[in-house]
Amino acid sequence: MKIDSKGNLILGTTVILIATLLLVAIFVFTAINYIENQNIDSYENDNFKYIVDDYSNNIEILGRQSIDDACDKVYKTLKLFDSEDQIKKNLNKKLDEKNIEMEEKYDAKISSSVLSVEPTDSPWKVLIKVKLDIRKNSNRYSKIIEKNISIEGLRDPLPLAKLSVASGIYIDGDKLNYFNALTRYLKLRNLDSPFSYAFATTPLTIKKCPYDPYIHHGDPGVLKDCLKKGYFHESRDGSCYLCRLEGKGTCPHYGLEVFIQTHTPLKNDSISCSDHVIFHDHYTGQKIDEYDIDSLILDSSHRKKYGVG
Ligand SMILES: [Zn+2]
Ligand SMILES: [Zn+2]
Repeated sequence: MKIDSKGNLILGTTVILIATLLLVAIFVFTAINYIENQNIDSYENDNFKYIVDDYSNNIEILGRQSIDDACDKVYKTLKLFDSEDQIKKNLNKKLDEKNIEMEEKYDAKISSSVLSVEPTDSPWKVLIKVKLDIRKNSNRYSKIIEKNISIEGLRDPLPLAKLSVASGIYIDGDKLNYFNALTRYLKLRNLDSPFSYAFATTPLTIKKCPYDPYIHHGDPGVLKDCLKKGYFHESRDGSCYLCRLEGKGTCPHYGLEVFIQTHTPLKNDSISCSDHVIFHDHYTGQKIDEYDIDSLILDSSHRKKYGVG
């Protein structure tokens, strides 16, 4: 038997035709599927976006509360060895409660886990990262939410973390009064003129100094106002909020410094009054105005930084 060339031609054409039809069918099917999926995706994404936005606001509020709760522990005698871990625990607990509330609100399964609590380039902010998982109608969505939390307005934990409540420090209005705690601290380390720091005071809460650049503290009335309001300043040598919670006078992160104001008639040299110098660096300074009992005791490099004396 021999198939003639005509039969070959018909067979060939049919095969090509079927193949083309099949390709077109596959293309149309895929395209329709793709468009449909995209619609579902964007619909679900909007749905999730709403939950994520709501959640993100919660992290800001609950994160700040969690930091404040850690600070509260320090103010109530407890020593914190790992502030990040403590804040994580506090926040996880708060978010677990929030998740139940959110599940009802959005009719979705919600779970979360705090990944990290970190210092940032700005000493006024702490970065919190939370992994959020949402399941709704067989759709899953995961997102890592990052939130910068302001520490302005929170209490400064360093004095109590360093010296403890038992040292005699007490809250005096919007200030902390060191009573005889710093005198004992300086005496114990054989540092100059420990009695200069009897009843020294420092601001209770963290407020950002608006006199920036700091050299303006030399302008008339500025330093006086800064001390009265109890402002904090940025400092490479000072410690960040998370390290302050652990009682560290200095740390590798960009940090804060505050003046510890003495109220003494003594005129001798003592330790310079920036808190990182008192609690870590221990170098000497002199009164800016030796006849003023409220004068700061300051070293030359800090005088330069603030443009005073
Ligand atoms: Zn200031
Ligand atoms: Zn630090």
